[in-house]
Amino acid sequence: MMKYLELYKGRGITISNAKDQYAWDKDGNKYLDLHAGYGVAFLGHRNQKVVDYLKKQLDEVMALTTAFDTPIREEMLKELDPLKPDDMPFVFLLNSGTEAVEFSLKIAKKLTKRKKLIAFKNSFHGRTAGSLSVTWNKKYREPFEPLVGPVEFLDYNSLDSLKAVNEEVAAVIVEPVQGEGGVIPADHEFMKAIREITREKGALMIVDEVQTGFGRTGKVWAYQHYGIVPDVVASAKAIGGGFPVSAVFLPNWIAEKLEEGDHGTTYGGNPLAAAAVTAAAKVLKEDSVPEQAATKGDMFIKMLSEELEQYKIVREIRGKGLMIGIDLRVNPGLAIKVIQDEKVLSLKAGLTTIRFLSPYLITKEDMEWALDATRKGIIATESKANSS
Ligand SMILES: *Cc1c(COP(=O)(O)O)cnc(C)c1O
Repeated sequence: MMKYLELYKGRGITISNAKDQYAWDKDGNKYLDLHAGYGVAFLGHRNQKVVDYLKKQLDEVMALTTAFDTPIREEMLKELDPLKPDDMPFVFLLNSGTEAVEFSLKIAKKLTKRKKLIAFKNSFHGRTAGSLSVTWNKKYREPFEPLVGPVEFLDYNSLDSLKAVNEEVAAVIVEPVQGEGGVIPADHEFMKAIREITREKGALMIVDEVQTGFGRTGKVWAYQHYGIVPDVVASAKAIGGGFPVSAVFLPNWIAEKLEEGDHGTTYGGNPLAAAAVTAAAKVLKEDSVPEQAATKGDMFIKMLSEELEQYKIVREIRGKGLMIGIDLRVNPGLAIKVIQDEKVLSLKAGLTTIRFLSPYLITKEDMEWALDATRKGIIATESKANSS
C-alpha cells in the first residue's frame, strides 16, 4: 500500500463531503468550515455556478493550451473585465499562488533589469524558489538556500524601513494583509509610502493578493482599501471558486514590454480553469460578495471582540472583512484543536494566531457557533496556561 507523504500535520478527520460553508466527516458529523482549504472555498464549497460551469466545460474541451483561443476564455475575459484591478486590462493564468508570484518577480526583473527584491518580515509568498526567496519564515527557506537573491526583508508597517528601497531594487512585494504571517493588515500610510517610493526609484510594486484577493477583505482587491494602484497584482485561492488556478493582472505599460517566451505554462489557462474563473466572477458580482464580506466581517469581528477580549490570553482580534485573526499570548494549537472538537475548522497564522478564512456565505448563527467554539478553546488554553 502506498503512503501519502505527510508534509502537513494531519488534522485527524476524514472529510467526505462539503457544501457551501459546511463540511461533513465520514461519520456524518457536520463542521463549519472556516479553514476552507486555506481560503480557496471562499465562494462556498461546490458553489453551484462553479460546478455547473465546470460540468459544461467537461463536455466541450478540457485540455488546451492558451495558444488556441476558445469560447470559454472569451467569456472569462468578459466576466473579469468589471472586476479587474484598476488600469490592469491584461491577465495571464497560472495554476497556483506561488506561480503567480514567480511570474510577477520575473516581470520585475525583466522590466527593471535589476536583481534586488524587497519583501517584509512575516511575509509568505509561496514555496517555489522565487517566491520562497521572498518568504520570511526561515524554517521554510533556509534549508534550500541559495535561492533567488538578493532579498532584503524590511519591517512591515514601518515607514522608516522603506528608506532601503533604492535604485537597485527591482520590486517590492507586499501582502495588503499578511495571511500566514498572522493576519496583519498593512497601515494606510505604509501602503501609500511603498507606492510612492517604488515609483520614485523605478521599482515595481507587486501586491500579493493570493489570500486577500477576490472579495475576501470587503473589496474585490484588498489594495483598494488604500487608495493606491500597484503595478502588478498576483491572485489565486478564491479566484477559481475552488478550482486550482492563479492569475497575474498587468497594466498596458507592462504588458507591452513583455514578449513571447518570457513566461510559459503547460496547464495555465486551461479551459476548466477558465470556466471556474468565469463562474467565480459571475458569483462575485451577482451575489455582491465583497459587500457581504465587509458587512459580515465587521459583524463577526465585533462579536468576537466583545466576547473574547476579556480573556487574559487574548492579545488582539483583528482583520479585514472575512479574513480574521484572534491573536493569543500563547501557541494557538490547543485552542484550534478544541475548536475543531466543537466542529468548527480554523487554522493557525504566525506563531500565536487563530485564523478564520470564512466563506462569504457564513450566517449569524454560524458566527455564534464559531464564537462558542472559540470561547471553549480559549478557556481550555487559559486553564492549561494557569496550571503549568
Ligand atoms: C497561499 C499563498 C501563496 C501560495 O499559494 P499556493 O497556491 O499555495 O502556491 C502565496 N502568497 C500568499 C499571500 C498566500 O496566502
